[in-house]
Amino acid sequence: MKFLECKSCGASMVIDPSGTTAHCPYCRSRYVLDHSDTDYYRDFYERMRGFFKLSKEGQERRVRADELWNSASEEVFECTDGRKIDIKSLNVFRDRDATVYTARQNIIFRFDPQNAAFTDKFRKAVSSLDYPSADTKTLSDFFPTISGGFGLTDGSALLAVKKSEDEYPLRLFGRLDGRQTAWIVSRLENLCCVLEYNSLVHTNFDIDDVYIDPYDHTASLYGSWWKVVPNNTTVSGVTYTTRHNLVSLRSIAAQVLGFESASDVRETGDLLKPFADFIRSAPASNAYDDFAHWDEVLIQSYGERRFVTMDTDDEQIYGKR
Ligand SMILES: [Zn+2]
Repeated sequence: MKFLECKSCGASMVIDPSGTTAHCPYCRSRYVLDHSDTDYYRDFYERMRGFFKLSKEGQERRVRADELWNSASEEVFECTDGRKIDIKSLNVFRDRDATVYTARQNIIFRFDPQNAAFTDKFRKAVSSLDYPSADTKTLSDFFPTISGGFGLTDGSALLAVKKSEDEYPLRLFGRLDGRQTAWIVSRLENLCCVLEYNSLVHTNFDIDDVYIDPYDHTASLYGSWWKVVPNNTTVSGVTYTTRHNLVSLRSIAAQVLGFESASDVRETGDLLKPFADFIRSAPASNAYDDFAHWDEVLIQSYGERRFVTMDTDDEQIYGKR
């Protein structure tokens, strides 16, 4: 994907799902895009959503993915041990703490020298993760596995996390309709249950931390693990409980649907009232109850197990949870 730089600070801009405006996650500047950029991003999102219609085994899937990766940008980093690391990335996202590159089989987090200690925080949070015993195999796939760490000559630190080739940042799909967002919400509820099980709060859980596989309809929580804290931790005067994960879930769903925030969500098109109400609602006190409530909302909105029109069977949609 083409990158737009912030005119104030040089960070990579975040393009909104409609492709009409962009904001800088670093200095918060906002811009209105010109027509050619708007056309480009609308077309890009449309092509990404086209993946939803392809089968995992199909040849078409490979051809389109190769096309996408051929347009990826390249950056070379020099390691303190003399090695050079060549990163070909589809998406670069920079926030206050790190620059995040989406490569074909990895996500690479680059921390500036003053933030280099975040790599240890990331490793520690991930290594402590535990899963309900029956689900270990399936669930651990949706959380980070660290594949390497490197010190760079400029003092910054790289941390690489594995991902499957078919996983892409959720943001790259632009705006999704109600039915598509519904399976993503189901997956996010599942991820929140794992956080709950581990008594962890992801203090900055947002759309850029989530990666989805458009063929298998899975979602993984790979980002910002240095911001994960134990339940009931106070950071800068705010006490975070696991309920915060569920508030974030609603805000991510709102963004995917093309709304600024959860409180702005209104029923429209195939986004039905029970679903819109759910996103605006305060979460249940824990992720298990919230997930149970969501399952009811799903049935009220789209009927039992009929909310996805893609070629997917029930086991893939609901997973083994
Ligand atoms: Zn900026």
